[in-house]
Amino acid sequence: MIKPSDNITALKGVGTKRAEALNKAGIYTVYDLLTYFPRNYIDLSRGMSIRSAPLNEDVCIRAFVGSVPREHYIRKGMTTYSVDITDGESVMNIVFFNNKYIPDMLINGEEYYFYGKITPFGQRYKSMTSPKFFRVSDGITFRPVYPQTSLLNTNYIEKLLKTAFDSIPEMEDYLPEKIRNDYCLMCLRDALVNIHFPTSPDLLSEAKRRVSFESLFLLQLGLSRLKIKSRKSTGTVITENYSDDFLKLLPFELTGAQKRAINDCVADMSSGLPMNRLLQGDVGSGKTAVSAALIYNIVKNGFQAAIMAPTEVLATQHYKTFLSFFENAGINVALLTGSTPAKEKKLIKAGLKEGRVDLVIGTHAIIQDDVEFLNLGLAVTDEQHRFGVAQRGKLGAKGKNPHILVMSATPIPRTLSLIIYGDLDISILDEMPAGRQKIDTFAVGPDKRERAYAYIKKHLLQGYQGYIVCPLVDIDEEEADSERKASVNLYNELKDGFFKGFKLGLLYGRMKADEKKTVMSDFSQGKTDLLISTTVIEVGVDVPNAVIMVIENADCFGLSQLHQLRGRVGRGEAKSTCILIASDENREENQRLKILESTTDGFKIADEDLKLRGPGDFLGSRQHGLPDLKISNMLSDGDTVRETHYAAEQLLKNNPTLEGAEYDALKKRVNEMFSHGVVLN
Ligand code: ADP
Ligand code: MG
Repeated sequence: MIKPSDNITALKGVGTKRAEALNKAGIYTVYDLLTYFPRNYIDLSRGMSIRSAPLNEDVCIRAFVGSVPREHYIRKGMTTYSVDITDGESVMNIVFFNNKYIPDMLINGEEYYFYGKITPFGQRYKSMTSPKFFRVSDGITFRPVYPQTSLLNTNYIEKLLKTAFDSIPEMEDYLPEKIRNDYCLMCLRDALVNIHFPTSPDLLSEAKRRVSFESLFLLQLGLSRLKIKSRKSTGTVITENYSDDFLKLLPFELTGAQKRAINDCVADMSSGLPMNRLLQGDVGSGKTAVSAALIYNIVKNGFQAAIMAPTEVLATQHYKTFLSFFENAGINVALLTGSTPAKEKKLIKAGLKEGRVDLVIGTHAIIQDDVEFLNLGLAVTDEQHRFGVAQRGKLGAKGKNPHILVMSATPIPRTLSLIIYGDLDISILDEMPAGRQKIDTFAVGPDKRERAYAYIKKHLLQGYQGYIVCPLVDIDEEEADSERKASVNLYNELKDGFFKGFKLGLLYGRMKADEKKTVMSDFSQGKTDLLISTTVIEVGVDVPNAVIMVIENADCFGLSQLHQLRGRVGRGEAKSTCILIASDENREENQRLKILESTTDGFKIADEDLKLRGPGDFLGSRQHGLPDLKISNMLSDGDTVRETHYAAEQLLKNNPTLEGAEYDALKKRVNEMFSHGVVLN
């Protein structure tokens, strides 16, 4: 008998060479093989005629082999096999490389489904290279397609899977029967069989549902358990609410949403359990003021606070903002970044350790090992999506169960935030400060660049400021013909060209920190008129006099990122404009830029982004610090996300430690899943 946990070599037909290839594809155990899911499925019932099939797309053609395969020796190591096929209306040529079995497999006069991309072949013919093919007489209409390598083609994988299923007649199920019954789920073995050998579209979708349910359920269980575990009691308790005193320090009235968020947090911080909360709000919704209210409260209650920001520009800006809020509040604020001079660093660190510094604002510098606090009570992480989960944990670890607030301007679709931030409570700022205007947005082709620049100039002449954002820093010789704009090149071109007589600034990530600081402070003081920049200005930069932004090669950016960039304007009273210039006038992708013309709702935009790019891209590479998810697009399946969220909550409510034999397998899997150093605090 073979067990799923056995090494893949336990299966008949796996020699050293194949084992190596399988390992390379991430398959070490039999279970890995069983969960090596098809990349997609071919629906053979959707066969097309040769004449009507589009070029350069995966299509399925149903046709007869009309010749005996011909072998052509091209050179050493390269032999091709070609054959003509016909659907009775037209003829097409098919070519295979180095596959000496083709003459045996493709029989003259037999009918097959051919699946692949069609390319033009000379003037009149079409051709397909190395298509997959299936005999029509086999009667199968639904076929999986696996990620292929030369040693692991679909046929081999299927044979191996058959062997595996034959030798594992029964399989332990991670999901207890009760849950399977409650949520109408297939048992694990049936689901896996149907994923690899679907007999109908319905059974396949049931099987997929079972598998995504399992992964999401495990994930949510793990996150909820962490959330419960992290709820140790804390000595950091707000005993007196100073929010009203803080309001007097502000030059504006808080929005209702800001007040609600502050109340949520103050309630958390008064409870005796550590707060663990996400503050989500679109750019410009006023998250900083909310965090300031909380910091004010915690400091007045005798604790220290820290804010970590992802860039030095942002940290410096926060520093200024907080200095102005707390000018007459008797709060001692320090800025600690990589470029703080050594002597000053030492002083700040001593001040934190001895409790003289009440609030430290900084970059990663504040989570270095030698930074210690006397009594850190509140740790704030700004623009959370830029940090891994582990880093967030590190800041919190500098206190004794301090309160944690993470702030994010990336509106995340609800379904996704349930997962990524499953361990956090959430407050949302869904109301913009009064007087904000909608930013007029135009998506245009490169032919309108001149006009866009003229529009900038018009605003500069009125005393306003503006931005031009480029995707690249500089273009070296090799890339000289790249159509993408680079900030350095554009700066040089415009400085003595179109914007001659205006003061231009240049900003990009690789600049030295103090150079960046100078550029930013020149811009915010109005010493420069137009800032040419890469996306480093993306987060948090706040210059209300800047009312126009042009984004070059806008199609190179994600929608959410463009939305963030656009949030740099429209921060004052004046009407603001954002012009998105596409790389190419006619590209189809430009259509998606139109979404930004029509809405300024960050959540809507995020949803579109998620649909267009999938969760992998949306989240950035492994930024979320969560376990690998096998069927990654399951995150876009909102129903299952919500269902599993509920299921996990219910289960833990009744059985928080998963006692009982029927939960053993489940518990073991959750623990395995979270054994890879996910630090949540
Ligand atoms: P974000 O949520 O993007 O971090 P900020 O906290 O930087 O937004 O706030 C954006 C701007 O709005 C700042 O200039 C801030 O002073 C201002 N602001 C914040 N709250 C209010 C309010 N309630 N009324 C008016 N202006 C506000
Ligand atoms: Mg901000």
